[in-house]
Amino acid sequence: MKVRVRLAPSPTGTLHIGTARTALFNWLFAANEGGKFLLRIEDTDKERSKPEFTENILEGLKWLGLSWDETPIIQSERVKEHKQGIQKLLDQGFAYRCYATEEELAEMRTLQKLRGQPPRYDNRHRNLSNKEETTFKAEGRTAVVRFRIEEQSIIAWDDLIRGHMSWKGADLGGDMVIARRAQADEIGDPLYNLVVVIDDASMNITHVIRGEDHISNTAKQILIYKALGIQIPEFAHTPLILNSEGRKLSKRDGVTSISEFKNMGYTSEALANYMTLLGWSAPEGMGERFSLKEVSSVFNFSRVNKAGAKFDWDKLNWLNAQVLHEWSPEKLLQEIIPLWIAAGWEIPDKSWSKDLLELISPSLTLLTDGLELSRPFFEEPNLLPDGSKQLQTNEGQQSIRGLLQELEKNPWDGRENQKAKELLKVAAESAGVKKGVVMKSLRAALLGCLQGPDLITTWGLLARAGKDRTRLRRFL
Ligand code: GLU
Repeated sequence: MKVRVRLAPSPTGTLHIGTARTALFNWLFAANEGGKFLLRIEDTDKERSKPEFTENILEGLKWLGLSWDETPIIQSERVKEHKQGIQKLLDQGFAYRCYATEEELAEMRTLQKLRGQPPRYDNRHRNLSNKEETTFKAEGRTAVVRFRIEEQSIIAWDDLIRGHMSWKGADLGGDMVIARRAQADEIGDPLYNLVVVIDDASMNITHVIRGEDHISNTAKQILIYKALGIQIPEFAHTPLILNSEGRKLSKRDGVTSISEFKNMGYTSEALANYMTLLGWSAPEGMGERFSLKEVSSVFNFSRVNKAGAKFDWDKLNWLNAQVLHEWSPEKLLQEIIPLWIAAGWEIPDKSWSKDLLELISPSLTLLTDGLELSRPFFEEPNLLPDGSKQLQTNEGQQSIRGLLQELEKNPWDGRENQKAKELLKVAAESAGVKKGVVMKSLRAALLGCLQGPDLITTWGLLARAGKDRTRLRRFL
């Protein structure tokens, strides 16, 4: 049978790194098997689902290169099918209406707590007589629909990542609600475990690949598959992504959404590459820097770890720098110029931009570094203590004077480096200081500090932008 997998995100927030990693493992598995990767938007939580989150999720997946097959399924459009499934379970006795009120259930839980028992529904309405049901209805009680979970049942499956799994019916919290409260002769809003089974079956999903936080749901869903007589798919539960303290990565750990990573200056290539390493280990000799295509040709679940995967910023930064260093100057230009434009900077011309990028690119880790490292070429830099100190010395002052004097006579257009070197030499002579001192002072005047990229190239770029003499004049 042809492999069909799916990502089923709930659009109640932006695309989270955990969901993106689940998407990635689904995508890689489908690509490796020559199967299909589908999407289902689980938007049945009406209050928390928002169209802008759906958009953010789709955009994020596209950006990461995780293209999907077929039109995404919108879960809220399938309520009729979900209710038909519930009706079938009711008709066949696998499900029943429970008329217990919220107050009664709260009282039940309080008693359980007092007795030191774990909270569970005590199946009190599992076998109501016709008479009891009629009475509840006459009282005007509403009802949820519950699915029977036999306590003695053992639910087992061979998980593609975690091996043999088994779960006791008694540990699933009692008969589960599959439809929200509604008038007694109606069926209320269908709930997650039921809906997922109906939808996965109708989408002919062969493998359900999702986070390990869904393991107990899998046990419940297998019972529903059996009751409905539907073929049970294979399951693979991926490890969680953990923070540096070993706890599940959450919003509290800062950046977790894919669009935030993008805004911080991470490339989709590096992030996708990094996410494959969150729980999967590459075969010997493959290194750690690879494209999705390369991974897809070797991906399988035997190399996915069971243990949680710690998020490692250093590795992500290293990969991002690798990617940026691999990019052609044109590609870098294409990605960084928009940042300059957004900053409101006036860009002299394309060859100037290319030369500036060539100068700064060895120091890029994030794309946004392309903004920060370029800033002194567009905006007057702040004068830092080391630069200020240098410019206040006598030798510093003489250097600037000497340089300006020579430049007034013989301005440099920023193109021939030999000319700049001669200018420095002559300026040093006329100022009566060493060439090294002139260079140090020039750097301080141009960049405001004593550190930075190659001086002559820096000067050349500022000269071409018509900014070198103005910057020198500030310090006279
Ligand atoms: N909507 C669920 C989630 O986002 C889907 C889980 C599943 O893959 O079944 O967690």
